[in-house]
Amino acid sequence: MNQASLECRHISLSYGATPVLRDIDLKIEPGEFFALLGPSGSGKSTLLRLIAGFNQHQSGELLVDGQDISAVPPHLRNIGMVFQNYALWPHMTVGENVAFGLEERRLPRATVREKVGRALDLVGLAEYAGRRPGQLSGGQQQRVALARTLAIEPRVLLLDEPLSNLDAKLRHHMRRELVAMQKQLSITTIFVTHDQEEAMTTADRIAVMHQGVIQQVGAPTALYDDPVNRFVAEFVGTINLVPGEASAGTVASSLGTVGLPAGSGSRTGRVEIAFRPHSVALSAAPGNASRHWVAATVSEREFLGEFVRYRVRAGDVELIADQPHALGDPGFAPGARVHVGVDPGQLRLIPA
Ligand code: ADP
Repeated sequence: MNQASLECRHISLSYGATPVLRDIDLKIEPGEFFALLGPSGSGKSTLLRLIAGFNQHQSGELLVDGQDISAVPPHLRNIGMVFQNYALWPHMTVGENVAFGLEERRLPRATVREKVGRALDLVGLAEYAGRRPGQLSGGQQQRVALARTLAIEPRVLLLDEPLSNLDAKLRHHMRRELVAMQKQLSITTIFVTHDQEEAMTTADRIAVMHQGVIQQVGAPTALYDDPVNRFVAEFVGTINLVPGEASAGTVASSLGTVGLPAGSGSRTGRVEIAFRPHSVALSAAPGNASRHWVAATVSEREFLGEFVRYRVRAGDVELIADQPHALGDPGFAPGARVHVGVDPGQLRLIPA
């Protein structure tokens, strides 16, 4: 199977005077499922389109298997892209849609037929070859778009928000199918999404983008557990951030003084202490001594089924504490006096 590596070296792109991609440096391994994650306007689609050849960077290099393809036109790159709106031809059948790219390449008719059959099999739509896109559900149309792109056997597969047009239930289903298919084909795949859950559940690694700059690249757990800055910490999940002051071996904040978290090195000066809501314990009285306990008052309670999200005020900080819900547990009401227990092992320091 096609397994290409892809590398962006110091790529920058501006529209007029507006920089949209700034010094993008990325290496995507052969067979990797890689997500570009960021809010709307962060430059994800611009980067994807640049890889496909529809946008041209002003500086830097774009390498596939070590060769700079910056000057190669899109149709000669052998990179397949599935567009957000699928871009299927409504007047053509499913089979004709999938055959389109192959016929453009002037392949013999029997080869086209065989490749179309194989691509439709792969996405589970072999019986639908004679239908028109308008007679298919959103999820099926998406699979046709995928089959059309896979039929040309690209070296790299690009997916631009491929699931965003589907309703929530179908989206969850399709995302698991997509992962299974990608693993089966082990084709190098780059996936654009603004949805952190989608990126975390599908990708081997993620690049978080903000304002045209890659903030951090890593496996989902690495981004979640060790965000390098406030943007990543807040974009990848929900987090508590408490301003603090680090000095030799400890960090002081309005929650008190605790030992420096592992991996903080010899950091000193102003920092943000970061910890996830589910790592915070809530109790009527201070509990287990392995935690650092602080008196607090419940300000809000949100019942989310699997857990209860509390907002509590501890001195001058507002914290979020997610507590598991048990059958019949009344929990704490707003106004309740409680104690929050912070687990020192679950703290991270990020730059203030
Ligand atoms: P994302 O995919 O992360 O939502 P885009 O890559 O679409 O972001 O856009 C990044 C920025 O580039 C946005 O500020 C957008 O307005 C700008 N932009 C995108 N395309 C063009 C264009 N053709 N001309 C000028 N500005 C553009």
